Formats: sequence, structure tokens, C-alpha cells
Amino acid sequence: MEETILTKTQIEEIVERLGKKLTEDLKDEEKPPVFLCVMKGAMPFYSDLIKHVDLDMVCDYIQLSSYEGGLASTGQVKMLTDVSVDLAGRTVVIVEDIVDSGLSMSFLTKYLQDKYQPKRILICALFDKFCARKNPVKVDYAGYRLNESKFLVGYGLDYKQLLRNVPYVYVPSPSELEGWDKKSD
Ligand code: IMP
Ligand code: MG
Repeated sequence: MEETILTKTQIEEIVERLGKKLTEDLKDEEKPPVFLCVMKGAMPFYSDLIKHVDLDMVCDYIQLSSYEGGLASTGQVKMLTDVSVDLAGRTVVIVEDIVDSGLSMSFLTKYLQDKYQPKRILICALFDKFCARKNPVKVDYAGYRLNESKFLVGYGLDYKQLLRNVPYVYVPSPSELEGWDKKSD
């Protein structure tokens, strides 16, 4: 490990803060908002976050692929699993692990907007790597803003599909990456 980015305690503070803010901001919605988990990376963040949102809500998920597991983006986003509820006229809160280049979120917001005409789409991300942005995406609720483009693992963030189960977030060392390369061969 090169550097810890978020400890378990810091993650708890973040999900509590974001959950309270979302509760406050969405308390007057006419229809229950839909909280959309972007699989698989946002899974732990999503499940912790929704416990702090004290509102009637609908839970759903989608799966996108863009990174294909490695260090760099493939530059292509695919919809692997679509939503299973109708989003028309509702507020949708996309819950994502990390917004990096912004490609995934600009693809997803346009896709949802065109297909379902929701009332509005909000983005809640554990990490906002705003310095790496190539597509204009506004993160409405950011857990932690990274002003350096580091590669992170843990708490949903993977390297070659590994490390999602680690309960904190850190920057792995080159030798750790090498070890996982061997395991995933
Ligand atoms: P974007 O489309 O470039 O914004 O990339 C977003 C997706 O890339 C995220 O949902 C993550 O799955 C993945 N990603 C971006 N940065 C990292 C990282 O530092 N570690 C692990 N996955 C990442
Ligand atoms: Mg992801």
C-alpha cells in the first residue's frame, strides 16, 4: 500500500453526511426518488448510503462497463444491465463509486434522459476525480474530491475485479499490482 485515502471511519462520516443532505434535499419530492446503483463499483457505497437516507425511495441498479478492469479506460461505455423501473417524471439519483474522465456518467445521463425522460438526474459519487475530467459532468454530491489523478482500490473500486471487498480505500503499490496481475492471469 502506498497511501490510505479513506479509512473505515472516514467512509462512515461521508455516507452519513451525504445521506443527511440527500434526505433534506429530496424531502419534498412528489414521487419517491429512484436511487440507482451503478454496479459493481458502487455496491458497498450504495448499500451504506441508502441506510442514511430517511425517505421513501425506490432502489434499482444498472451495470455499465468502461474500464474492463485495468488501470486505464478503454474509452468505450456499454450498458450491460438496464433499469427495471420506469423513471419517467421521477428524480433519479445515480450512485457511482468514482467519476474519472466523466465518460461513463455523460453516457448514462444522456441514455436515461433520452429513454425515460426523468424529472431530473442527480449524481452522487464517493470520489470526484475532477482533475481527470474529459467530458463535462457535474457531481452533485461528492464524498471526496481528488485533486490528483491516483488509481484507487477498495470499497467497491477494483483492479481486475479484485479488491472490491476491502473496507477502506487506498493507492496500491506497483508490486501489489504485479501480484494481482499474476492472480488474474
Ligand atoms: P470514467 O468513465 O472515466 O469517469 O470512469 C468511471 C469508472 O471507471 C468508474 O465507475 C470506475 O469503475 C472506474 N475507475 C475510475 N477510476 C478508478 C480508480 O481509481 N480505481 C478503480 N476504478 C476506477
Ligand atoms: Mg464503476
